Amino acid sequence: MSPQVPRHSLYSLTDSSDCGPEKEEEEEPSRRLTPLENLTLDMCHNENTIKELTVGRRVGFYKVRGEIGCGNFSKVKLAFHALTKDKVAIKVLDKLRLDLQTQRMLSREISSMESLFHPNVVRLYEVVETPSRLYLVLEYAGGGDLHSRITSQGKISEPESKIVFAQILSAVKHMHDNNIIHRDLKAENVLFSCNACVKVADFGFSTRVSTNNQMLDTFCGSPPYAAPELFKDESYMGPPVDVWAMGVLLFFMVTGTMPFRADTVPRLRRCVLEGAYVLPIWVSAPCQRLIQGILKPEPSERYALDQMLGCEWLLPVEFFRPVPPTYRLNPMHLLESGPGRLNQEEEEVRVALQELGVTEEHILNNQSKNSRSPVTGIYRIILHRMQRNKGTERAPMITGVVKDPKRDSLRAYRNLRHTSKLCVLS
Ligand code: ATP
Repeated sequence: MSPQVPRHSLYSLTDSSDCGPEKEEEEEPSRRLTPLENLTLDMCHNENTIKELTVGRRVGFYKVRGEIGCGNFSKVKLAFHALTKDKVAIKVLDKLRLDLQTQRMLSREISSMESLFHPNVVRLYEVVETPSRLYLVLEYAGGGDLHSRITSQGKISEPESKIVFAQILSAVKHMHDNNIIHRDLKAENVLFSCNACVKVADFGFSTRVSTNNQMLDTFCGSPPYAAPELFKDESYMGPPVDVWAMGVLLFFMVTGTMPFRADTVPRLRRCVLEGAYVLPIWVSAPCQRLIQGILKPEPSERYALDQMLGCEWLLPVEFFRPVPPTYRLNPMHLLESGPGRLNQEEEEVRVALQELGVTEEHILNNQSKNSRSPVTGIYRIILHRMQRNKGTERAPMITGVVKDPKRDSLRAYRNLRHTSKLCVLS
């Protein structure tokens, strides 16, 4: 400990307690410090901790470990919450490299994730900002992504594809019900959590629409997943574009290849506009019908999500129950509900927060900060862990008998990850 080192005010929490030891001793000499007090004290005075914060080995309350992914705009790192010990993924963005367009995308990514709560959507726990960097603290999905799985192990059997696709469908339905269009659905953005649950990630290209038939005019996403209307340089409606990408995704899952392939974007454009793709005969008839219903060139003729939910191929799948309406993104409601008004889960979260040293005052001072607060981060992480422990996140089950087609050999698209692009249609 070094008393000369200035306090790291960026991470000190705003309640009436101070992070200096003198005041603690004066006021309550015999009281043991809470874990939160110990941590903030450490971050203010411990030279090693301060050094780690300075070099990025720590971000707010998170201890950063190795890199787990890299995208166009970011690096993604594995980290642990110093108090709760939960694993998280931290998306690191260099603010100095963000142009205006990317900044806008980033704020959409944050606001889209803030308004979604679904077991198949990666959760945003906290946003930490320093003068040079922005960190999105996300739920960690440790099972790799769908693209890597298919390129390394080959196509997925139809029963397993149903389980994966049903979860993506459920997540996209939740997005569209909340007027969010993802616009970058692709196998690289479908992650697996450790318990084989599917998590849709990367809301960088997402947008909020006022109604689902609002016209959009920004081409974004990855060309092999782009719907024909995007290649026509016309304005387009959001939901059918996500639906098309899901059709490409489903084709990729059950065949291990992409429906539209070309070595240049102009050729790919031609391929998509011609709408000619070949479905292998060994794909089951109900699955073929679903893909054909989705990959319709005319957006108005394309399947809607509700048709997909009710299709024959997915009939044997037991879908998730609706999300419990009690979930709140901010811990404020723990104070607002009077004694005895919290449900068991909320009460457990309240007690866990208290044990870590999060006081009512911290929560009160946290109002209006949304995800830009370490208190919200702790709250969301604990709540999510409790929900997971109660089994609210599990892969859906197949209740009927389904034939498993013979596994085929691994095909093209090995090592070829799809890069997402953005341009405004003129
Ligand atoms: P893109 O080039 O696809 O636009 P990006 O900069 O938006 O990339 P992401 O796609 O969000 O970044 O993340 C890059 C990679 O990091 C992913 O492909 C994945 O491997 C890993 N990753 C991202 N989020 C998580 C997470 N929550 N848990 C585990 N790994 C993750």
